[in-house]
Formats: sequence, C-alpha cells, structure tokens
Amino acid sequence: MTNGLLEDDEMRSTLSPEQYRVLRQKGTEPPFSGKLLTNHRPGSYCCAACGRLVFTSETKYDDSSGWPSFSKPATAEVVILRSDNSFNLQRTEVCCANCGSHLGHLFKESPSQDHYCINSVALGFINNSTGEITY
Ligand SMILES: [Zn+2]
Repeated sequence: MTNGLLEDDEMRSTLSPEQYRVLRQKGTEPPFSGKLLTNHRPGSYCCAACGRLVFTSETKYDDSSGWPSFSKPATAEVVILRSDNSFNLQRTEVCCANCGSHLGHLFKESPSQDHYCINSVALGFINNSTGEITY
C-alpha cells in the first residue's frame, strides 16, 4: 500500500475546522447540512483529507438520512471498516484506507443492501469532465 499518510499537524493546517472535526476526530456533521447531499452530477468523490478516490456518483442515491448515501465504495480496498461502539451503539465506522480518516458509517438496510452514510464535509467531489474539485 502506498504511504500517503499526512501528519496530523499538516492536516490541521490544510483542513477546515469542520473537516478536521469530522475526519480526524470522528465527528458527524449536522444532517441535511452537507453541500454534496443533493449533488447529482456525474463524477467521483475523494477523501477530503488525502484526495484518494473513495466513492463514485454511480452508487450515490437519495436517502432520507440527511447525509450523502452510497450503496458501495469505489472499490472494496479504498475504505476500511471498523466496529464502533461509541454512544453505546453498535455501528460500523467507514474510514479512508489511505489516510485512516473517518468518513462516516455503514448500515445494513437488508442482508444484501449496504448503506454507506458518509459526511459530505469528509468528501470532495471531482467533476470528471473538468477535474474541478468542490468541497
Ligand atoms: Zn484519506
């Protein structure tokens, strides 16, 4: 695996306070607050901390949760799943495999249907035709 790790201090200086709180301190953005929640343009989603591709628009769907929702990551290797028992809840945490940053949580809608519930602030959207990234 490539070592794209950034020092935490470096991340603190490049990320916004809200990005840092979510990505590095496992925070959660308020529901329905994310800029990418209603983004329906075709493109790719990268980790806001390291820029690694983590999701694509093809698996993004509308959900009433209030956070950007995906049925699967770009490839299985780009995310790491960890069990998260904070707040006395048994949840599965979704992290960027490249830099370890917290992206969101994985819920099982049914045995065959995954719901990746991801913080918008943890993502950057890459417009595939222009290469422009919006956070
Ligand atoms: Zn990352």
